[in-house]
Amino acid sequence: MGHLHQRLVGLRRRLLFTDEPDPAVLQGVFALLYALDLTLRAAGDAAALDVGTWPVVGLAVTVVTCALAAVAPWERLPGWAAGLLPVLDLAALGMSRVDEQGGAAGILAVVPALWLGRQFGRRGAVVAVLGTTFLLAVPSLLYLGLTGVNLSRAVLIPVVAGWAAFAISYALERVRASRDVIAHQRRISQAIFETVDVGLVLLDRHGAYEGVNKRHEDFMRLAFPEGHLGRAGQLGLVFHEDGTTAFTRDEMPTYRASHGEEFEDIRMWVGSDPHTRRALSVSSRRVEDDNGAFAGAALAYKDVTDFMRALRVKDEFVASVSHELRTPLTSINGYVHILLERHDLPTDVTAQLEVVARNTVRLTRLVSDLLHTAQADEAPMHVVREDTDLAAVVRGCVEAAGPAAARADVSISLDVPETLVARVDAQRMAQVVDNLLSNAVKYSRRGGHVRVSLGTDANRVVLGVADDGLGISAADRGRLFTRFFRTRQAEEQAIQGVGLGLSITKSIVEAHGGRIEVQSELGAGSEFTVRLPDR
Ligand code: ADP
Repeated sequence: MGHLHQRLVGLRRRLLFTDEPDPAVLQGVFALLYALDLTLRAAGDAAALDVGTWPVVGLAVTVVTCALAAVAPWERLPGWAAGLLPVLDLAALGMSRVDEQGGAAGILAVVPALWLGRQFGRRGAVVAVLGTTFLLAVPSLLYLGLTGVNLSRAVLIPVVAGWAAFAISYALERVRASRDVIAHQRRISQAIFETVDVGLVLLDRHGAYEGVNKRHEDFMRLAFPEGHLGRAGQLGLVFHEDGTTAFTRDEMPTYRASHGEEFEDIRMWVGSDPHTRRALSVSSRRVEDDNGAFAGAALAYKDVTDFMRALRVKDEFVASVSHELRTPLTSINGYVHILLERHDLPTDVTAQLEVVARNTVRLTRLVSDLLHTAQADEAPMHVVREDTDLAAVVRGCVEAAGPAAARADVSISLDVPETLVARVDAQRMAQVVDNLLSNAVKYSRRGGHVRVSLGTDANRVVLGVADDGLGISAADRGRLFTRFFRTRQAEEQAIQGVGLGLSITKSIVEAHGGRIEVQSELGAGSEFTVRLPDR
């Protein structure tokens, strides 16, 4: 059944000129049509089939041509040889037409014309026009005489046959041209695919691998030493950023991409040997068909091994340096306070010592921020939650911020209840308020105003710190809580800071099961809102 179906499809492609013309098939069909014309003519008038009349000679020519088409070794003959067949067909049609009855044989000229146009392009079309004119139209005019009917046939047949031949030859040229363009584009894409320094994978809509470039084959050898079956979601030596937790099937980037997900910068380690394993950052994009339906996915794997190793070294370095700094700082702090408790010092010395004390506190906070940041990936923030009067904590922070605000000519207003008890880590929450408040003051203009509020909303404690200062652009808002991020405005105005406060603030809030949000408009001010569960 399948075989028969295939043959029928093959025949259709030949008859509709989709494939290169097959002389045996086309000539066979032509001979059948030719014979049909004569048979139908004979049905009306038996004399039409008299042996020796021109139409029957034409039939004989057609049959001989048919046999020739079937046995000639076309693949060994020069290309133009096959062109003789349609020309002979036109001659046979000419013979068929030099008959009083005429019949509809003229329309059959379209078959050799299409054949010539399809196989030999424009040159074939010219031959078709010349052939129909001199083998068909002119002889019939000479033989049958110059009547109106004959003239009309003699003109129209070459015109229509030529039209068909030119139409098919132009259509073919256009198909070839666009095929060339597509082939060229494919070669360019292939060159890009293989030259980029990024592993690339193309998936089809069912998650089967459609293409993998050489760069990615290296990564796959590390991740799947046993081999890969070419389907999305296969498990292998693929680990999370910690280097030990293996990816589950649902987490595998190929699996997610094959379900239509798009993502950016999923980090992973591939391979188990610490010396040869590589760190990769994976991104994915959907591929859609013309109707917008999911048609597959493209994944890019960037080698970020050096970057990940550098990050680790940096974190270890920062952690150890800040750890080492803490001990001498504690000692300086202690001695400065001992000194400050003495009453026999001249007042200017006491004032200078107070500056030392203030800066020691700042330095201590910076060092502990750095230490926390360096360790943040390994240990989640530890908080000790106890019943705490948050209102008192906030008031304390506002009071402590007073001198800095006064220096910056920023006023602070406070909207806090008498008491507000919540189960929180008092020290950590003071750090949150300090960070938000010091930012609000730092990023305000002279004469600016900062509003601090505390209240409850359902079972949540809500802390707000708002300013009318520089504000933050929408693009920056998304990255505000990442380590070491600072806005361009902060950098440009050389406002002191390192970009750690907000990332730490966020981890503290989240360790309490809360959330922090920011609303802001560039140039108009910012409002940070912290929501915490009160229990
Ligand atoms: P730092 O203040 O030390 O730079 P933070 O992590 O506290 O670090 O803040 C990160 C960045 O966010 C700041 O550098 C600043 O650009 C921006 N920012 C924070 N708070 C505000 C604010 N209230 N107004 C405008 N920009 C702010």
